[in-house]
Amino acid sequence: MSTSPVPPASLASLATRDLAVVWHPCTQMHDHETLPMLPIARAEGAWLHADDGRRWLDAVSSWWTNVLGHRHPRIVAGLRDQLDRLDHVMLAGMTHEPAVALAEELVRVAPPGLSRVFYADNGSSAIEVALKMSFHYWRNLGQAKRTRFIAIEGGYHGETLGALSVTDVALYRDTYAPLLLQPIFAPSPDDYLREPGTTREEHVQARLEAMRVLLERHAHEVCAVVIEPLVQCAGGMRMHDAAYVAGLRKLCDTFDVHLLADEIAVGFGRTGTLFACEQAGITPDFMCLSKGLTGGTLPLSAVLTNEAVYAAFYAEYAAGKAFLHSHSFTGNALACRAALETLRVFRDEPVLERNRALAAHLAARLAPLRGHPNVADVRQTGMIAAIELVRDVRTREPFPAADRRGLRVYRHGLERGAILRPLGNVVYVMPPYCITPDEIDLVVDIATEGIALAVAD
Ligand SMILES: *Cc1c(COP(=O)(O)O)cnc(C)c1O
Repeated sequence: MSTSPVPPASLASLATRDLAVVWHPCTQMHDHETLPMLPIARAEGAWLHADDGRRWLDAVSSWWTNVLGHRHPRIVAGLRDQLDRLDHVMLAGMTHEPAVALAEELVRVAPPGLSRVFYADNGSSAIEVALKMSFHYWRNLGQAKRTRFIAIEGGYHGETLGALSVTDVALYRDTYAPLLLQPIFAPSPDDYLREPGTTREEHVQARLEAMRVLLERHAHEVCAVVIEPLVQCAGGMRMHDAAYVAGLRKLCDTFDVHLLADEIAVGFGRTGTLFACEQAGITPDFMCLSKGLTGGTLPLSAVLTNEAVYAAFYAEYAAGKAFLHSHSFTGNALACRAALETLRVFRDEPVLERNRALAAHLAARLAPLRGHPNVADVRQTGMIAAIELVRDVRTREPFPAADRRGLRVYRHGLERGAILRPLGNVVYVMPPYCITPDEIDLVVDIATEGIALAVAD
């Protein structure tokens, strides 16, 4: 009999068993030789619990998905009820109440003119759907030479090859660049990049002018312009003025290209309105939703579009115009039901109003960080707040990425009971909306301590 160095699975801790078999997302697994994997046994509201009594405040909403808090009673009840009726069927040739009711509700609350809902099952696949649909729309109209997209520098749209193509975050994109489409990247309206002495308005106008120049040159070969309205999230919580989004809508109309709004992270109340596009007073041609759509309980995504797009695909089968894209779990009944319950919470409870008060509290508590010698910017849009750490506040010289200062903040958070998972040198707070003012105070205290430790040498 051989004696195995690995203890029987039943005796080993969850974290040990995990490291033997699970390969985690967005992770250099080697880090976990020194960084303990958190064994999460339960979640309730804003908190994640381990079985041994430890708990962590989920200050990043489980990768921004968990907008209403974990296990919201209304979503839990809806899912229990749904499980007793229908789990899943393919959505080709069949339909079900949650898929229809959710589409009706999405159309009701979306910016006016978005009247058709195409389901997929995660954010990246929603982007793939919208990119293909835009290309295919132009092709159906006889404009097959339109094969390119304009994306914004610093934007993030997911990591499948199409979505990654229109993403401009080096960490995720560079390795795979040889495999990707070649979009045209436009300068970002990111307010952090504004030249000193320039007003916000001048900055927006300059970036719109740059976009106009690109469209003048390329519109004939462009299907759509892709943007994360108001906040470029994975790119470092970089924020821009709603006037840019409004101006971009006008430019897309002038040059007759689609506007694709990726509201996967900013949708569902994150920026202060149900959808970020509302603050620009515009309707995009495609709006991609996921993350908060199901309240963060189940994977689901939706691409909303207008009647003109829908009509371009509607013809006798033989015309070959149909959009034949599919995913096995497109429009999963449980996920649709969770999303429907999520939207009902937004309809029946003063979620956005409450968020305004919480966002104001968060802003007030973060304000003292503005004077910190290693903080170049404290910015906030609704329930997204970000702190930009730099080596030198006067020159804005960043810390070298290899320093991994953000990781120190993360480690400190774990010790003190909060999940803060910085994006490089950007520490951010993006909590579930059930967070209390006291819990905000706790998170800000922990982040402030973590920052002090992170910049100490
Ligand atoms: C997370 C995200 C995506 C990708 O969604 P996944 O479900 O992770 O594939 C796309 N766009 C934005 C803006 C996101 O934040």
